[in-house]
Amino acid sequence: MREWLPVQGLVHEGKWIGQGDERRWRCERCGYEWQWRPPAWRQCPGVPRYRDGEFPPGLVTVSQLRRKGLEPRDRLRPVGCYWCGRGTRYVPLYDERDAVRLSRVRRKEGRS
Ligand SMILES: [Zn+2]
Repeated sequence: MREWLPVQGLVHEGKWIGQGDERRWRCERCGYEWQWRPPAWRQCPGVPRYRDGEFPPGLVTVSQLRRKGLEPRDRLRPVGCYWCGRGTRYVPLYDERDAVRLSRVRRKEGRS
């Protein structure tokens, strides 16, 4: 099952945070920082981004929710994400307190 963030084609919302002549920007949406320009393959997830295993308590993946018989209220609206692999993919994170009971009817997923 794919769990990648459904966001596509979003670019980072860069804000200059350097000092003096320093080339340094940070994305206001996800917190990603770069010095020249963000790599084209590194899309903006549009939500706060955490390192694997470092996200705040209460934020869980879809797999973790399903193990508890829950699912996200709105899959297209994660509250955060974490990087997977070499940072090329984002795994969405949802607020466990906002989850709903897993429905028996499986929605169509994984359309390619
Ligand atoms: Zn961003």
